[in-house]
Amino acid sequence: MTVVKILSFIKSLDIVKSYVYSDGGLVVEAQGFSKEKAEELAAWIPGLARQAEERLRLEHPVIMVLKDPEQELLVYQENDEAVIAAPEKGAASPLLKAMAGEGPRCEVCHGDLSQAVIRCPRCGAKIPFTADKCPRCGYRIDYRRCPYCGTVITATGAKAGLPRFFRKVAESFLILDDNK
Ligand SMILES: [Zn+2]
Ligand SMILES: [Zn+2]
Repeated sequence: MTVVKILSFIKSLDIVKSYVYSDGGLVVEAQGFSKEKAEELAAWIPGLARQAEERLRLEHPVIMVLKDPEQELLVYQENDEAVIAAPEKGAASPLLKAMAGEGPRCEVCHGDLSQAVIRCPRCGAKIPFTADKCPRCGYRIDYRRCPYCGTVITATGAKAGLPRFFRKVAESFLILDDNK
C-alpha cells in the first residue's frame, strides 16, 4: 500500500473528514484541520516515526495511533511521505486494518477487500468494507456485496451461508455503492 493509495481510500470515506498528507514534514494537502494544526501534525511525523522505529523496531511503512488531546489520529508513513487521518469516534479499527493492508479477500473471487467501500444501509455513510457495523450510526451490517464479483459476503469475505430465499431477502436490503 502506498501513501497515495491510502489517501485516496481515506478521501472516499464519509467517516474521515480530516486528513493531512505530508512529505518531509511539510503539508502537501490537508482537509478539515486549520492551517496551523495541519502544519503542526505534519511537522511531528518524521521525528515520531523515527522514535517509534527505534523503540519498537517497526518496519516501514510505519503505522501509528496517536492520542491527540482532541481525538484519535491514525498515521501511515512510508519514507518521507505520511498520511494522518482523524476518523470519527469508533471508526479507527477498520481503518487501521485497511491502512495495514490486512484486509480480507473475497472467498469467491479473492479480490482484496482492504480498501473497498460500502454504504451504510441506514444512514448512507460511506464506510470501510471491513466494518461490521457502521461507525457513524451503529447499524450492524451482516452482509454486503463483493465489489469485484457481486457475491453476497460478510465483512471477512466469507460467502453468506443463507438459504436462497433468505439470501434474496438480504440482498433486497443491501444498498450498494454505485458511485465508484
Ligand atoms: Zn468477490
Ligand atoms: Zn450508518
